[in-house]
Amino acid sequence: MHKGSCLCGDVTFTVNAAPEGPSVCHCGQCRNQSGHLWASAYAPEHDIAITGRVTWYEASTTAKRGFCPRCGSFLFWKAHGEDTMSFALGALDEPTGVRLEKHIFVADKGDYYDIADGLPQKE
Ligand SMILES: [Zn+2]
Repeated sequence: MHKGSCLCGDVTFTVNAAPEGPSVCHCGQCRNQSGHLWASAYAPEHDIAITGRVTWYEASTTAKRGFCPRCGSFLFWKAHGEDTMSFALGALDEPTGVRLEKHIFVADKGDYYDIADGLPQKE
């Protein structure tokens, strides 16, 4: 089981499944919301238990983004019509036991950095 929380601690969550697809997202929405990149993994939604109030922002017609309304931590990403939910790797208590597998949406990456860790990159 994995535990995580936002910066202020008002929102905590547990993941009762093995995190899948650990990745770093370079899309414009994740960069705007996080201030740089967003690292996440996903699990079945019913295996993620959240305590505290999360504010959901409908950034598009296809997905919503969840954050703590007090401290602003960007914690969750949920596609409508999927039964999985992504959660922020940076919010997990350590040791996480998780290793990043890939970079995604690199076609949208910012112009102020390079990706140099050798992990696979998906457009
Ligand atoms: Zn918070």
